[in-house]
Amino acid sequence: MRGDGSQVLAHVDMDAFYASVERLDRPQLAGAPIIVGGGKRGVVSAASYEARRFGVRSAMPMFEARSRCPQGVFLPVRMERYQQVSRRVMEVLAGFTPLLEPVSVDEAYLDLTGTERLWGPPPAAGRAIKEAMRRTVGLTCSVGIAPVRFLAKIASDRDKPDGLTVVEDLETFLATVSLKEVPGVGARARERLGQMGLGRLVELRELGPERLERIMGVFGRRLWELSWGRDPSGVSPEREVKSVSNETTLEADTGDREELEARLLGLSQKVARRLRAKGLCGRTVTLKLKHRDHRLVTRSATLARPTDAAGEIYAAARELLAAYGAPGPFRLIGVGLSHLGAAGQGQAELFGAAKAGRNRALDRAEDAIVARFGEKAITRGAQIAPPLAGLDQDAPKGHNKKEPK
Ligand SMILES: [Mg+2]
Repeated sequence: MRGDGSQVLAHVDMDAFYASVERLDRPQLAGAPIIVGGGKRGVVSAASYEARRFGVRSAMPMFEARSRCPQGVFLPVRMERYQQVSRRVMEVLAGFTPLLEPVSVDEAYLDLTGTERLWGPPPAAGRAIKEAMRRTVGLTCSVGIAPVRFLAKIASDRDKPDGLTVVEDLETFLATVSLKEVPGVGARARERLGQMGLGRLVELRELGPERLERIMGVFGRRLWELSWGRDPSGVSPEREVKSVSNETTLEADTGDREELEARLLGLSQKVARRLRAKGLCGRTVTLKLKHRDHRLVTRSATLARPTDAAGEIYAAARELLAAYGAPGPFRLIGVGLSHLGAAGQGQAELFGAAKAGRNRALDRAEDAIVARFGEKAITRGAQIAPPLAGLDQDAPKGHNKKEPK
């Protein structure tokens, strides 16, 4: 299992998830063809493997499913319940590695690189995941393990349900992959490539990246890389996090600028700490205000460079508050950061490096205090005391105000 850079990536996919949860909750349905769906769209959302034997598939109209499988057990979608079980599924997976990327309610990627000492080689790790899932949640899943992400996904689909496929040799496995299995290759592209006599992924190598790009558009070049088993996308645990924000409902509605600014500082510090804890930086600062009559307004500004520093977030939020101008009173105030990326990409390098360094030192000191004494130690201080020295003097340089829709 040594492909590119010796990564060990797993894709875990729960089997017929909604239908399996229904069976979990109603053991008397064991062995019955279960079909979950209906609602406004009137289509099948999930079908148990027993129902699939009758030709029932997801996205099929319910009336067709009923005619194909009259003896089926038809159940409505209970999304809340599935999400509840999904959280337990992800908890089980998180026990194997912190590098976990949920991609849907019943699917996740795991980076198992370097976990051999804990879980053994890939086949043993895969069995351990399946066993933990069965024991803890009571459901089966299918696992694919490969040195690259897209092959882990293809592998997990090879042996469903209750499957385990480990890609031991990249080249051998690649030779078996049909274009139909490759995510992103649609029916029309397949038809086009099929007319050229191409049906397997490795056969695309001979076309070369330029021709593939002409046929497939921008995806062509990536597809050519995939045909060689190269896929730079690893597992990004924070992919789901699109923004980090904190807000607070005021004890009494207020339009008092000083009080609002003190709140903003406390909120900015919380947001910054959460960003740093996740190793993220963000570029767009959003101020959220709720008027007494519950009218909600947001104002955003995009900074010249990403930040995880409370002082920069606060300065931008304070400027937004001043620019909004309405006197209030307000019942709620919030600060958020979006356009997130991994920390260490360009913050504090361009200008004011010394100042940024000082603020960062301050932020780190805060992180340490919070770690020891809890959030209250900082937040309360910030809201009573005047803003921390050095945090309130600089307006953010070079940001553009932008109104969100
Ligand atoms: Mg699934």
